[in-house]
Amino acid sequence: MRPISYARATDVASAITTVSADPQRAFLAGGTTEIDLLRLNVVQPSGLVDINLLPLKQIEELADGGLRIGALARVSDVAEAPAVAERFPMIAQALVLGASPQLRHMASMGGNLLQRVRCSYFRDTHSPCNKREPGSGCAALEGINRGHAILGTSEQCIATHPSDLAVALVALDAIVHTEGPKGKRAIAIDDFFLLPGDTPYREHPLDHGELIVAIEIPALPFARRSFYIKVRDRSSYEFALVSIATALRIDGGVISEVRLARRFNAFKVELAERTIVRALETATMMGGTA
Ligand SMILES: Cc1cc2nc3c(=O)[nH]c(=O)nc-3n(C[C@H](O)[C@H](O)[C@H](O)COP(=O)(O)OP(=O)(O)OC[C@H]3O[C@@H](n4cnc5c(N)ncnc54)[C@H](O)[C@@H]3O)c2cc1C
Ligand code: SF4
Repeated sequence: MRPISYARATDVASAITTVSADPQRAFLAGGTTEIDLLRLNVVQPSGLVDINLLPLKQIEELADGGLRIGALARVSDVAEAPAVAERFPMIAQALVLGASPQLRHMASMGGNLLQRVRCSYFRDTHSPCNKREPGSGCAALEGINRGHAILGTSEQCIATHPSDLAVALVALDAIVHTEGPKGKRAIAIDDFFLLPGDTPYREHPLDHGELIVAIEIPALPFARRSFYIKVRDRSSYEFALVSIATALRIDGGVISEVRLARRFNAFKVELAERTIVRALETATMMGGTA
């Protein structure tokens, strides 16, 4: 038994101060990742600071056509929001294809970006894992690695990031807004997810105690014609083998601009290529103006 302190923050500043005061404290949003890993003994926080009372749940329509989504907006609420479905259908689709309805009601947008890898060795504390325990080795290199990455890997770690939302956000050049002990920052989504390299335990550039407050999606009118495809072993409640997010601009019957982000792993190169073709064909047939 390990004692864990619990505090409920009511404003952003005190949430940041309370977590920053102890390197072992963590934020708690929906808990669908954090509590799982805590039970498995994969993470051992000394305390949890519940951020669910913070006023970070709004889905704000920006005048230029973009969106600012609060970090604590629930995945299910964002997926159902008309502005999201109309302006950025690929985001709504990516969210609906994740997890189960019950989990989507609990899971927050900020927590989705910070969910941990689904590598089974990471979650098994008896296996060596450089991400969980730096320097211990990587069981996946010689183990069951069908679901692992083939690009962006290192000799230290071959895990892939599981977030469907992240793939769509990369295609849309989203910006992650944070507040932390050193002040406010806006981080381009391309700079948000770190490759494993020699430091697989560092997954994002956030400082300890730095809070995601919002995700901004810049205006992209032709994203009304956008699509997210997730290929997986079964049709629900499963993580992606390949996923493609695509948006098309079509002028006079000609594709003039394409936004594409993809995630795939292991045997999946050909599967990824076929999925891109399917995504482009589907986006071409969709309604929506350029
Ligand atoms: C069975 C199962 C299936 C799933 N399937 C999918 C899937 O198919 N696709 C997919 O994309 N996801 C999937 N998920 C992941 C799920 O979407 C995430 O667990 C969820 O989004 C995390 O959000 P949360 O609010 O519960 O975060 P929490 O569990 O509360 O927190 C997760 C981490 O983020 C930190 N954190 C949370 N909010 C903030 C913040 N605002 N600022 C800074 N740090 C913060 C916490 O300290 C913690 O380290 C699945 C999860 C489960 C359990
Ligand atoms: S792939 Fe990464 S997460 Fe999985 S065991 Fe290796 S180091 Fe750990």
